[in-house]
Amino acid sequence: SLNTVAALQQAVEDHGVADRVKVVPVGCFGFCRMGPVVVVYPGQTFYCEVQPQHAPVIIQQHVLGGQPVEALLYAPNPREKHRIAKMMDQPFYKGQHRTALSHCGLINPECIEEAIAADRYFALAKALLEMTPAQVIEEVKRSGLRGRGGGGFPTGRKWELAAAVEGDVKYVLCNADEGDPGAFMDRSIIEGDPHAILEAMAIAGYAIGAQHGYIYVRAEYPVAVHRLEIAIRQARELGLLGENILGTGFSFDIDIRLGAGAFVCGEETALIASIEGQRGLPRPRPPFPAQKGLWGKPTLNNNVETYANVPYIILHGAEAFRSVGTEKSPGTKVFAVAGNVMNTGLVEVPIGTTLREIVYGMAGGIPKGRPFKAAQTGGPSGGCIPAHLLDIPMDYEPLNEVGSMMGSGGLIVMDDQSCMVDVARFYLQFTQDESCGKCPPCRIGTKRMLEILDRIVEGEGTMEDLDELERLANGIKATALCGLGQTAPNPVLSTLRYFREEYEAHVRDKH
Ligand code: SF4
Repeated sequence: SLNTVAALQQAVEDHGVADRVKVVPVGCFGFCRMGPVVVVYPGQTFYCEVQPQHAPVIIQQHVLGGQPVEALLYAPNPREKHRIAKMMDQPFYKGQHRTALSHCGLINPECIEEAIAADRYFALAKALLEMTPAQVIEEVKRSGLRGRGGGGFPTGRKWELAAAVEGDVKYVLCNADEGDPGAFMDRSIIEGDPHAILEAMAIAGYAIGAQHGYIYVRAEYPVAVHRLEIAIRQARELGLLGENILGTGFSFDIDIRLGAGAFVCGEETALIASIEGQRGLPRPRPPFPAQKGLWGKPTLNNNVETYANVPYIILHGAEAFRSVGTEKSPGTKVFAVAGNVMNTGLVEVPIGTTLREIVYGMAGGIPKGRPFKAAQTGGPSGGCIPAHLLDIPMDYEPLNEVGSMMGSGGLIVMDDQSCMVDVARFYLQFTQDESCGKCPPCRIGTKRMLEILDRIVEGEGTMEDLDELERLANGIKATALCGLGQTAPNPVLSTLRYFREEYEAHVRDKH
């Protein structure tokens, strides 16, 4: 896509219209399958799969001649040749409600002026100039925002707890250690709108009385890291980070810490240990990080998507935020939709949108009209949702009740050709690999489970193995030290619950 940007810029110069046509490289539009995407304004004309050789015709025919380039418009059904021009008229975007992703695809993430022109840092100014820290916390509490990293803990309550702890030195952390297979929500938010995170962390710092923040981001996300570095530098230059922000006397600065790709470092106590320079191992709680976190100081930790909602809440108010979503879980959730669907990509929908609406609406259904078999939500911590639960609302509690979880937002769709034992084995292999080894239930228990699954897949399993799998899974869930181990059995338990006949068929087939 960088080549496409360069080709568009070249075409603009070749036609001598650089003074009135601007080519703006932006972050992710979400519609991954059809990238690289180019949107022409005014009119919001949406071109997909744009290659460098298409640049001259877009500039000449559309931008200068006013005639859209039909062949590059999206056709939901290629056989009918019906093409849709406007971005928000695409089936992929209909039904979406973009709050966390609102600025992604609209602004150049490497230009703070564009971010400010699109209202970034207005919420920080409002908080610092018009609100007390207690009012900021109250607004976040009233919004009902819940942790988007998967836990669903009320964000305002978390801020309140961190604010209530006495301490001259406190820290604000951003967990950008997104490690679920198939998940890339946080990466896209940072790559498309890094200033949202800086702004939200500064607001959080003001609210709880912290002066320093760290963003813990995977080193495997070099573009995100690069854009964060640029954003921090630009914000410091404009006095939006650092000493005496906006002349209010409030000081707050942010540094980046790189994670080396250990999934367990997404667990907040392991993340804190890693920032301190120690091995990333979880530790028992209490004490909770709000009381004793980074370097023993009170620490507030939220994930990227949670922060991305904060500027909207402060700027537009809790009521506006609550106008979408459910009573108990207001707002939106971003899902990374992958697997057997027509339209893979990032969708942001009001919480409570059904799985069916996502799979058959935005994601365009299953290729070749094959039947939907299951969807794994919540990555390796979540579970498989079968076809008879397609109308489940995508919300924290309903997903928990059926044995899955919201998680950070991974959503992998499987058609009737998928083997659910293989799926469970894949996720368990992942968590086994990523287990830090500190506690025996997770270190040894998941290994024993994996051995059983290997036996079953290889046709060596017995019916007793299925009972043993369940026994081990329930034991690990009840006794593992951290969330990684406590949730690792979920894919196995949920597939045993809904697809037990497939396990049994594997066992029977050997005879
Ligand atoms: Fe480590 Fe697993 Fe125990 Fe968590 S549950 S502390 S990842 S061994």
